[in-house]
Parts: sequence; structure tokens; C-alpha cells
Amino acid sequence: MGLNPSDRRTPMVNGSKNPEPVKVLWFIDTQWYEKSNRSFLDLAQSSLCPKCMEKLGKKRKKTASSEVLVAIKDCCSKLPDFVTARMPIMESVFRILLANGNRPMTAEDIGRELSEHRDGDNYAGSPQMLTRLLNSDHWYGFKKESSV
Ligand SMILES: [Zn+2]
Repeated sequence: MGLNPSDRRTPMVNGSKNPEPVKVLWFIDTQWYEKSNRSFLDLAQSSLCPKCMEKLGKKRKKTASSEVLVAIKDCCSKLPDFVTARMPIMESVFRILLANGNRPMTAEDIGRELSEHRDGDNYAGSPQMLTRLLNSDHWYGFKKESSV
């Protein structure tokens, strides 16, 4: 009888009166690690392949985050098991951002790479789902920046 609530397309998003689409980009906030007394380097190093792990581990001086990022970008992220379907989603997102040199990415971009690595698992890679997970993360230091 035309009273179906789903017919009324009421926007449910808070304060979304702005007609401009705002692009939300996600990146890993390394400063957050410092503030939280955690080591970005340790976490990033855990995604190195065994070869790079050995190479960087053998160095006398302290490994820099930038060296780890370069190794991941140029080598480790190219290996097939860098991101797998068995891996927790947030770990996978962390690795995808590392693989791109921590370049800020939209949830759509991350989701696309995620489902490629997860054998086309589109549910895990849906932008809505990812945004929700990214917003509730307190472990990987994901941060968003907005650009119109
Ligand atoms: Zn490697």
C-alpha cells in the first residue's frame, strides 16, 4: 500500500548532506606506533620473506623502516603467499598497504587487491565491510585522510 519503509530512501549516514563525494584514503600511521609505544618496524618486518628477513637481520646497524618498506615493495610482496585467503583481513590490509609503499589508498582499491589475493572473495573485500573494520582497528594504526 505504498507504506513500505524501504520505499522511503532516507539517508542513514550521519551528516551526509554534503553532495561532494569525499574520497577517504587509508594509510598506516607510523607516528601512532610511537605514541602507542609500539614498533612499526617489528610489525612490518614480520611480513618480510625469509630471504629478506635474513638479509636485513644480518646487518650490523639498526634496520630502518624505509629499508623494510623497499624490500617488501620490490621483493616480498611479489611472492604468492604474501597475502593469502587464510590470513586475517586486517593483516592482509596491512600488507597490501606495505606492498604499495604505504601510499594512501581508498577502501575500494584495498578491497580490489584483497579479493585478488583471496581468490575472488568479494565479501571480505567490500568497501563497506573494510571501512567498518578499518574504523574499529586498534592494532595496525590505520588512519584515514580525506580528499575531495
Ligand atoms: Zn623479500
